[in-house]
Amino acid sequence: MPSNPESPVSAHALGLPVTQVRGVGPERAALLGRLGIVTVEDLLWHRPRRLEDRRALLPISRLALGEPATVCGTIMASGVKWFRQRTRSVFEFVLDDGTGRLHCRWWNLPMLERVFRPGDVVLVFGKPNSLRPRQMDRPETERFEGEDDPTVHLRRIVPVHGATEGLTPRTMRTLVWNALEQFGPALEPDGWDGNKPGAHPDGQPWPERRKALRDLHFPGEMADAERARERFAAEEFLRLQREIRRRRESLARAFAAPRCPGDNRLMRPFLARLGFALTDAQSRVLRDIRKDVGGVVPMRRLLQGDVGSGKTVVAACAAVMALEAGHDVVVMAPTEILARQLGAAFHRWLGPFGVGVGLHAGGRCDASGGDGPRVTVGTHALLEADVDLGKPGLLVIDEQHKFGVSQRESLLRKAGHTHLLVMTATPIPRTLGLTLYGDLDISVLDAMPAGRQPVRTHVRDASALPKVWEFVRGELAAGRQAYVVCPRVEESGDDDVRAVLKEFDAVKAAMEPWACALVHGRMASAERDAAMEAFRSGAAPLLVATQVIEVGVDVSAASVIVVMSAERFGLAQLHQLRGRVGRGLAASHCILVADAKTDAAQARLDVMARTRDGFEIAEEDFRLRGPGELLGHAQSGMPSFRFGDLGRDLALMRWARDQARSGG
Ligand code: ADP
Ligand code: MG
Repeated sequence: MPSNPESPVSAHALGLPVTQVRGVGPERAALLGRLGIVTVEDLLWHRPRRLEDRRALLPISRLALGEPATVCGTIMASGVKWFRQRTRSVFEFVLDDGTGRLHCRWWNLPMLERVFRPGDVVLVFGKPNSLRPRQMDRPETERFEGEDDPTVHLRRIVPVHGATEGLTPRTMRTLVWNALEQFGPALEPDGWDGNKPGAHPDGQPWPERRKALRDLHFPGEMADAERARERFAAEEFLRLQREIRRRRESLARAFAAPRCPGDNRLMRPFLARLGFALTDAQSRVLRDIRKDVGGVVPMRRLLQGDVGSGKTVVAACAAVMALEAGHDVVVMAPTEILARQLGAAFHRWLGPFGVGVGLHAGGRCDASGGDGPRVTVGTHALLEADVDLGKPGLLVIDEQHKFGVSQRESLLRKAGHTHLLVMTATPIPRTLGLTLYGDLDISVLDAMPAGRQPVRTHVRDASALPKVWEFVRGELAAGRQAYVVCPRVEESGDDDVRAVLKEFDAVKAAMEPWACALVHGRMASAERDAAMEAFRSGAAPLLVATQVIEVGVDVSAASVIVVMSAERFGLAQLHQLRGRVGRGLAASHCILVADAKTDAAQARLDVMARTRDGFEIAEEDFRLRGPGELLGHAQSGMPSFRFGDLGRDLALMRWARDQARSGG
């Protein structure tokens, strides 16, 4: 393409093949291709793995044990030692910088002898594992070569890019430097609209693109690099949030939901009969919902509330609004137990007013009540083709995190994209919420109903079990109830059933003569119902279960939960399980019987013992395990970011959401 040498290199330059960069021939282009770097733009935005401050190198004499550091010196001696009949070897060189000596060692890489020679000047980055003699094992190294431009590699903060075969971090650095030199200064100002005055989350403008690119790789100060990262992360987040906004707008254009303004005809008597007053948090959330369902733009609202915060009654109130306007309501729950429990609550609350409540779970279908608008509760069985949902005015999905996004979409498609309320007790980290559920408005139930006793958490090892059982007996004798939870390793494996049965026998023996019910995922539903009913009614004050009881089960007389092998549960799960108790007026206890073999397991248990705040637990879980495990299958559709970091960019993600929503 002919180009005018006077004009700045415009946007098209970024799309040029990477071979346009000085130093990139066909061979290197192929290697770069393996890193996904095809164009000049790909190379410029290739994020370094880390930055290294080489403005002032540490003298070897000042190395500290276990502290990562970069030193530079000359190789005084090197060699390979062989042992075990020449099947094992160690290569070592001794580096001297005039202040001291450092031994660097590599096992079973004898070919390094041909790479490093006495007299070579080498930069070494690593952690000393001994100081007498000073020694590093497998440090990162960078050898100086005559033709290199030292201004690129020394006396500045330099990028260290992930190496790949044939491309050392040093080569990558040179290529990125060349790309910045050739294309950087000539790049047009980007004119990115996210960077307009007054738009920034902290009032500080981000660096302009040209500067940000340079700072990403060769910043003057470490803080400049972070600022540059933030700027590019902000771009990623804003792009995502605008996409989310476009989706919302097209939803509003494509579908109209029935107006459910509510005339309080049913609401007033319903609330009067409830037996308790709504909390302020519940009333506030209901005002949000009332505003949404009063209009024709389909509601898309996520209700987040810790276990026991009283989401069910909020859903019932929302249902009442739809029923008053003459529309059916469909409620979907992730497990049969939960669907039955919800069905029973709706029946208890709404039945007296002649509202029919139907149940679709586990192949059975019960219906009751008159011929006015009705409530249908079920599991994902509701999605089956032969179930007719009619044209409901409101959909409720309880424990949304147990469903995938695709199930939510299936339900919406089947029920005609009407008002939707999804509820979750897993307080997901807020950044993740904005990312995954960015297309939802979020309401939070941030206060518990009054009179709740905090749950005390105890971590015990298996040797303390006799004492644990003694304690549980005491609780039962005082008229309270208890759960014993055993982990289920795999979905419905026979071995796990055996394990639960064994545990069941052990608990039964330990707790004689108290009656003990058993619930696990592979029971026939009639059997399971009978067991749940025995527990609910108090006939069996003790329930042994797998984590099928994890979500939602509500028995307020239960004051103790014993979790066996607690180290095998995730934080979010433990938090859910703990939420099964502390629902009544008695002081409650969560006993985690654990054998924490790893630090990570111990860290999880410590978090549980330390805090009851669901948000804090979620953020910790996120930090300890990353988003993948936390969200399980619900993570499908999780966007990935090159610069954005969901662990720490909450303010930035909020900013992007607000920008996008206010039309920015
Ligand atoms: P979750 O948010 O975990 O689904 P639930 O809806 O199961 O919690 O509510 C837990 C318990 O608290 C239930 O027994 C429910 O009836 C009760 N509850 C809900 N709201 C209130 C309130 N405002 N005052 C007293 N008890 C309440
Ligand atoms: Mg619930």
